Amino acid sequence: MAKHPVVLIPLDHYEQQSVDAAVARGLEMLGGVESIIGKEEKVLLKPNLLGKALPQKAVTTHFSVFSAVCKVLKEKGYAHVSYGDSPGHPTTTPEKAAEACGIAAEAKKWGVPAGEFNSGSVVHFPEGKACKSFYLCKAVQETDALINICKMKTHALERITGAVKNMYGCITGVNKATGHAHFPSSEAFADMLADLHRCVKPRLHIMDGIMAMEGNGPTSGTPVAMNVLLFSLDPVALDSVYAALVHLDAHMVPTCVSGAKAGLGVMEADEIEIVTPDGVLSMEEVQRKYGNPDFDVFRGVMKKHLLAKFMPLLPFLQHRPRADMKKCVACGICEQSCPVPEKAVHAGNGQKARYDYKKCIRCYCCQEMCPAKAIEVYRSPWNKLLGGK
Ligand code: SF4
Ligand code: SF4
Repeated sequence: MAKHPVVLIPLDHYEQQSVDAAVARGLEMLGGVESIIGKEEKVLLKPNLLGKALPQKAVTTHFSVFSAVCKVLKEKGYAHVSYGDSPGHPTTTPEKAAEACGIAAEAKKWGVPAGEFNSGSVVHFPEGKACKSFYLCKAVQETDALINICKMKTHALERITGAVKNMYGCITGVNKATGHAHFPSSEAFADMLADLHRCVKPRLHIMDGIMAMEGNGPTSGTPVAMNVLLFSLDPVALDSVYAALVHLDAHMVPTCVSGAKAGLGVMEADEIEIVTPDGVLSMEEVQRKYGNPDFDVFRGVMKKHLLAKFMPLLPFLQHRPRADMKKCVACGICEQSCPVPEKAVHAGNGQKARYDYKKCIRCYCCQEMCPAKAIEVYRSPWNKLLGGK
């Protein structure tokens, strides 16, 4: 079987001309964008616009990477290009998120209009293994070819968010929280994401890993230089290379495991060809040359058989969201984001966040949406003893 290529271009800054050259080169090394998308097709660019954040916070895809993709497409004569994403929180519109991170200005410069991400409808997907329908944004339904321009970040539920997870922004606004309620575990959620990819069929994946996010991602983590751009037609292979770069076993990444199981792509080192400006390198060589063993990502393994023995204590032994009362501003966004109907966290109207762990499904929507970075994943000493280091 032919190996699935992932192109890695090293770059340690966001100076526009350098990013333009790196993106153009990465796409050429992948075979050229014309070999992937026809010029008459409607193209939708899907950066990560998770929230209203400045570009240096590494919450969103950097505007220079987005701009470089626009440049390649426009210079090659693609006439029907639009862009967008659906942020997680209902009060943050796609327009506001795109303006805050600089992507809206770049889109305007290249004459790339915003697609409709504020509304959508149910799309049935009977072939789905975990999920048979999705509430997809209108722009996603209307496009021929979606280009996924994701960000290299950590994620409380899935350990990392990359090419596979970024497609969740194709789901309209508040319907994202409903998805978390239906697929509460990291494995179930990843199975649903694999189906979402099979339904939407993004054509190309580009990862902005120049400045990544480690720690308390995907919103409240710390920017860290990883100095790479990754390109692939296979989102699972791309995320597996990302996992290797941060010294995380891809078998511990639910989106890689579910993606491979669903036939979305490949995750094993011997199935992936990593093409760099220095030629083809093995996963080990890439990890040695470009990896960061100190990248702050959860690498522990929960011993589920031990957890099962302590079922009545489970809500207290499991990892859980915890709010720092010094940082909490009592805005109530965590409560609004919580997909549990009776709410597992209460806050707002002057009251700081208060959790009910018996109701909490550990989806971490509250942690993702907290504007004050007040919520983190707490692992008790008992949890660490059970393997959750
Ligand atoms: S979202 Fe954050 S700041 Fe707002 S109430 Fe919840 S914990 Fe506090
Ligand atoms: S409290 Fe937070 S982690 Fe728990 S279910 Fe609600 S949003 Fe998810």
